[in-house]
Amino acid sequence: MTPHKILFLVLDGIADRPCPELAGKTPLQAAKKPNLDAIAREGICGIMDTISPGIRPGSDTAHLALLGYDPHTYYTGRGPLECEGTGIHMEPGMIGFRCNYATVAKDGKVIDRRAGRIHDTADLSAAIQNGVDLSRYGVSFVFRSGAGHRASLALKGEGLGHCVSSNDPKKEGVAPLTIVWQKDAPVHRKTAEVCNEFVRQSAAILFDHPVNRKRLSEGKNPANMVLMRGAGEMGDYEPFDRRYGISGSVISAASLIGGIGTAVGLRRVHVPGITGSQDSNLAGKIAAALDELSGKDFVLVNIKGADESGHDGLALQKTAFIEKVDSAIAPIRSRDDCIIVLCADHSTPCAVKDHSADPVPVVIWGEGVRTDSVSRFDEISCAGGGLCRITGASLLPIALDLINRSKKYGA
Ligand code: ZN
Ligand code: ZN
Repeated sequence: MTPHKILFLVLDGIADRPCPELAGKTPLQAAKKPNLDAIAREGICGIMDTISPGIRPGSDTAHLALLGYDPHTYYTGRGPLECEGTGIHMEPGMIGFRCNYATVAKDGKVIDRRAGRIHDTADLSAAIQNGVDLSRYGVSFVFRSGAGHRASLALKGEGLGHCVSSNDPKKEGVAPLTIVWQKDAPVHRKTAEVCNEFVRQSAAILFDHPVNRKRLSEGKNPANMVLMRGAGEMGDYEPFDRRYGISGSVISAASLIGGIGTAVGLRRVHVPGITGSQDSNLAGKIAAALDELSGKDFVLVNIKGADESGHDGLALQKTAFIEKVDSAIAPIRSRDDCIIVLCADHSTPCAVKDHSADPVPVVIWGEGVRTDSVSRFDEISCAGGGLCRITGASLLPIALDLINRSKKYGA
């Protein structure tokens, strides 16, 4: 069958540098991964600078680039994308923040920035949503719980700006900061004022909330303060289906990646048991992706665990996770209606414990794809492949061309 659909499998942070624990190999080189290697052998390989050489991508800017939305134009901070990720529909111009529930002691100082790792905050968030009133500023808002102690806040109204600071002191034992404007213009001044009022009113609601009274009686830290950061103005994203003429979905445990997907108009598919960690339900994720492809032209799946091992500096754990990914992805090899793109969004070297600008391996697989002599999916082998060295922005156009859906440039 001629492929007419595209599956992007993004193995978050899977690329690495040589690791001493692995006798100088990278985790991808050291892992036993018959399926990933078969895809490399049967496809065309290369290495990729997700944004451009020497630029260390965040997962957010990297995924924007992979979806063909230049992050230099479209990236307006993490806040609005996190809001999308918690299910808030962000309209262009809305101001989004990442929030944390925290614990403040009687003396006004933050004693726990994660409020005892509270996890069920739905009642608290509902109380804030119903109780805080910003109407005297002409501002409405949506406040939603995220995973664990996290939440998001979106502000909507005339004359709001995003150049405002955070109230998060970033350490314990000091009082929350006053939010201030960072660019002197009425829109930013107004937003700072609205934010401080939101913090004041929400703290008053949380102070005596039954959930917190119960936590105190159980000796747990109450969630009595909202810390907010990452202010950004929601951008105006041309919808994915209009931009490329194809429909699409996103599957990711990480709310940030899911939020990027919905921001560009992809459908977010929720899969039970996915955690964004080592113990994620990978088989469920792959099954959901293959299922989703029966109704959509494009699916992006993000698998996060290897990035976590990289941040923790655990090369052996990363290698073991790659082997787990390898067995989970086996079912994709029987798809004959898809172009499969396998890549990372950035390197997360165990020696660095953070993202690096090292290019990542990439393979494109499917009927009609020219092959090369590469037979292993790793950073070094793929560098010898037929794709050579490309940027993330090229990936979707190449895949669209392989399903004969790219527009002709010229006559
Ligand atoms: Zn990432
Ligand atoms: Zn990371």
